[in-house]
Amino acid sequence: MSVESVSGTAQIIDGKATAKALRAEVREHVLRLSERGLQPGLRVVLVGEDPASQVYVRNKDRAAVEAGFDVDTIRLPATTSQEEVLACVRALNEDPKVHGILVQLPLPGDLDGDRTVEALASHKDVDGLHPANVAALWRGEEGLVPCTPAGCIELLDRYGIEISGKRAVVLGRSMLVGKPLAALLLARNATVTVCHSRTEDLPAVTREADILVAAVGRAGLVQADWVRPGACVIDVGINRNEAGKLVGDVDFEGVRQVAGAITPVPGGVGPMTIAMLLRNTALAAERTLSA
Ligand code: NAD
Repeated sequence: MSVESVSGTAQIIDGKATAKALRAEVREHVLRLSERGLQPGLRVVLVGEDPASQVYVRNKDRAAVEAGFDVDTIRLPATTSQEEVLACVRALNEDPKVHGILVQLPLPGDLDGDRTVEALASHKDVDGLHPANVAALWRGEEGLVPCTPAGCIELLDRYGIEISGKRAVVLGRSMLVGKPLAALLLARNATVTVCHSRTEDLPAVTREADILVAAVGRAGLVQADWVRPGACVIDVGINRNEAGKLVGDVDFEGVRQVAGAITPVPGGVGPMTIAMLLRNTALAAERTLSA
């Protein structure tokens, strides 16, 4: 598909099917590693009882088991002290059976997410948030890349959407999504603009995009007249609308009439995040063989 092609109804980028294919590939990778005597180990640290995090962690667990990982969730009460969280992370850093550690963020109460991430061994930081991995991403060195932005790039690649030389606009500048995605697009030779809550005349900027990514957290922010005809629109947002329905940051029904390709919510970027987490963990495990 060419992002220049103008069509009445956009191609739907099926994240659910793509993630399924990717998980099957990871399973193959895990089988090859097992032939070399290695089973990738993933530990998820979940502090507190936030219901959304509980659901997310359960889904991660299930996908990791299906892909052949040794996976466990360490559940700590919301009353856990910062020192206890750090001690848990350090013990996992030292455990040779563990190749990937994911601390479910945000942490409850006064617990410091940044300090906790900084305590991770960077080669086990499968969420790609440790400062060493952030630096590696911007320097173009080998590291671990945050799962959601990596999933967005994977979708573009698997749908044959050209990145090099294209104009990419990213809405949102978080450490988790917006900034790493900008770095990845830049590394692939896109011309990248990052917009945020203080950007003036957002629609004028977004209309220039060949690839438009929304990672804001505001239902229906991106309207049809914000989108250049034929552009590829990647919707990272996860929101509940007034009716309680899960929706993205993009007005899907309106924008699909203008865009060349679009990810739905649910079933777009969301499923890719867990698949990329598994891929990162398998990669982290494989690197221990050559370390
Ligand atoms: P965040 O709150 O950390 O960052 C939001 C960003 O949006 C900020 O940089 C802010 O400047 C910008 N912003 C706010 N209002 C804006 C506006 N009106 N116009 C332009 N920019 C604006 O959020 P996040 O962690 O980056 O997540 C963004 C969204 O993506 C959320 O809906 C979140 O639930 C979703 N998300 C989805 C996945 C997934 O797996 N699909 C993973 C992570 C986050």
